[in-house]
Amino acid sequence: MAQIPEKSQELLNLAIENLQGLLTDRTVSPEPPKELATVNGFPQLHATLLEVRTAIMGFASGDLGCQITKKGFLPGSIKALQASLNHLTWQTKMIASGDFTQRVDFMGDFSESFNSMVTLLDESMRKLELIAHTDPLTGSNNRGYFMQLLAAELERAKRYGHLFTVLMLDLDHFKRVNDSRGHAAGDEALRYLCRVLQTSGLRKTDFFGRIGGEEFALVFPETGIEGAAEAAEKVRDNLKETAVIHEGQEFFITASIGISEWRFDDTQETLLTRADQAMYRAKETGRDRVCLSR
Ligand code: GH3
Ligand code: MG
Ligand code: MG
Repeated sequence: MAQIPEKSQELLNLAIENLQGLLTDRTVSPEPPKELATVNGFPQLHATLLEVRTAIMGFASGDLGCQITKKGFLPGSIKALQASLNHLTWQTKMIASGDFTQRVDFMGDFSESFNSMVTLLDESMRKLELIAHTDPLTGSNNRGYFMQLLAAELERAKRYGHLFTVLMLDLDHFKRVNDSRGHAAGDEALRYLCRVLQTSGLRKTDFFGRIGGEEFALVFPETGIEGAAEAAEKVRDNLKETAVIHEGQEFFITASIGISEWRFDDTQETLLTRADQAMYRAKETGRDRVCLSR
């Protein structure tokens, strides 16, 4: 084996000790020993190791912001890890703001668990939203959600000048159903009404909600008052055509319906009030009929 001159051996030992210190001793001076400052390649090796060490110590304490300027396999890999962790941080913020489409794909088992968590969150949020929007008895939209949908329709109509109509439907003499057949029969009648509304050929864009006990409101986008009246007559016919069946007993129900068409300066209240007034005219003039607000 070739003999290393004594001076070189000393410098080599100093270099090894210094680099080991960078790897093992957090109190070691960040400056290279001045004896090695002119040794070919050493200051660059020292600076690279120092930068990698600073970055990793930063990561370990949660700081992802350090600058990695050196080239090469090790700094490059650390930089890639930094980019992934920064991306993961951004993705987590997006998830926190409700974007459940985010998925992680660079961290093996962690990615799998993280993605399952996001999927579960997504499903839970959808379930919660559905519960918050739904009337538990009939499964139709509840009042709050119907009002949200109506507000959006009003906004659309105002912006694009599209027409639409609102219908108010109230079951006739419903108290009698409860009084004579019991509350459970009344409940079944409400569910039956919703099935009729769903199967009366309404369009995909039409929607309705239960806004009171036995009172429902419907919205027909892109539909004038004549078209809405036709659809309302169909609902009214279908409703009384078949019987409600409760505990083997059959009975029939009818409804009174009022219709109003959107006007440019309408608010939700003015529009619903006109439909309501038309519905009360239907009640006053004999029930089981459709009245229009002109
Ligand atoms: P009208 O033709 O004038 O509308 O008469 P009505 O009897 O339908 O009107 P009224 O407002 O006097 O009665 C409404 C009834 O609806 C009273 C209430 O007990 C009943 N009701 C409200 N919510 C529910 C419910 O969730 N289930 C049942 N079974 N009945 C309900
Ligand atoms: Mg009623
Ligand atoms: Mg009522």
